[in-house]
Amino acid sequence: MNFELSEELQDIRRLARDFALSEVKPTADADDKAHRFRRDLVQKMGELGFLGCVIPEEYGGNGLGYLALAILAEEIARVHSSLRLIFAGNTLGPAITLWRHGNEELKQKYLPGLCSGELIGCFAMTEPNAGSDVAAMKTRAVLDGDHYVLNGSKMWISYATVADVGLIYAYTDPTQRARGMSAFIVDMKSPGIITEAITEKLGNWSSPVGSITFENCLVPKANLLGKEGQGFAICMQQLDNTRLASAAGAVGVGQACIDAAVEYATTREQFGQQIGRFQMIQDWIAQMCVDVEAARLLTYRAAFLKDKGVPNTLETSMAKLFASEAANKCADYALRIYSAYGYSEEYPVARFFRDAKYYQIVEGTSNVHKIIISQDALGYRKANR
Ligand SMILES: Cc1cc2nc3c(=O)[nH]c(=O)nc-3n(C[C@H](O)[C@H](O)[C@H](O)COP(=O)(O)OP(=O)(O)OC[C@H]3O[C@@H](n4cnc5c(N)ncnc54)[C@H](O)[C@@H]3O)c2cc1C
Repeated sequence: MNFELSEELQDIRRLARDFALSEVKPTADADDKAHRFRRDLVQKMGELGFLGCVIPEEYGGNGLGYLALAILAEEIARVHSSLRLIFAGNTLGPAITLWRHGNEELKQKYLPGLCSGELIGCFAMTEPNAGSDVAAMKTRAVLDGDHYVLNGSKMWISYATVADVGLIYAYTDPTQRARGMSAFIVDMKSPGIITEAITEKLGNWSSPVGSITFENCLVPKANLLGKEGQGFAICMQQLDNTRLASAAGAVGVGQACIDAAVEYATTREQFGQQIGRFQMIQDWIAQMCVDVEAARLLTYRAAFLKDKGVPNTLETSMAKLFASEAANKCADYALRIYSAYGYSEEYPVARFFRDAKYYQIVEGTSNVHKIIISQDALGYRKANR
């Protein structure tokens, strides 16, 4: 394995960093406090090619690959974690899944818009009573002539209220449990779709999240991905992909905490010297640096394996688990270094602290990843099959 990024990937990092500093950072705190979703920034990211990394050129992408996407997601999250969600909402959620399993007409219709940022995507498996246990979902899709009729409720769906296109999972045959689940591409402006924002939440304030209710919503038969009954397998494949974007986002948040902590520790003085001179502060900084670097390497390895097209569920789980926990540890230490000022909204550290929590929950909680990793090690269930 080569531990140095290619010139092209280094350029991509520079481009993302410049964009994040010049276009995102100036308003990140104000946007966050106003709970403002910046669709204009998503479109700019689309114009720069950020959202088309894993989609071929013929559908509006650029085929730069998963490692390029991970670097972009990391750099965006380093400045504003909320904005990073678009890499899952558009690219690694609906777009790549549609490209793999959809028909030509659907690809032509939706992929260019998801890559350019003109369309916003979402993916929905979670329901009020189906979180980690995805197969416990109740949403039904019943075939009636040329359409499936969708009924049910999804909960905690990122971009629910702003999405144009959704990757929706529902049971076509609930008697078969996971084998009866199917995946659909749904026009989110269709009649029979009601969305409601969840406005009171801990973090990621600039990323809308909400519920989706389907009431006799008609979805064309041609919008089925793969075959009936393949939905659970498609969902697990999608999670493998979106988890990479989460891992990269967590690396970005962890790095943001280091950036902020170093800046403060070298300016704040107590007892006549910079607090960075105290060994206990140095201990925190050292732990943060090592954890973020390790998280970054695990994340890049998972991306590298995806680019090579080899099974990587285990490596992706390791990256997601470690990066999420690292981001939270870094946010905790950064806040302690800022102390009372960390507790205030004067500095972005409080935002990092709030946003870090998200990563331990989505795309499989940390417990879920421990299950995947430990069961593989114990030989109970191999992750890479
Ligand atoms: C901000 C935000 C955005 C989200 N966006 C989306 C989205 O876009 N699309 C989507 O479909 N979902 C989304 N989700 C939902 C998210 O994926 C779920 O919250 C997550 O899967 C966990 O489900 P749960 O919260 O219902 O927790 P539960 O599954 O109820 O788990 C509760 C606790 O029990 C633990 N637990 C559960 N089962 C086990 C077990 N077998 N062994 C050990 N511990 C276990 C969990 O780790 C957790 O600590 C989002 C959530 C949030 C907070």
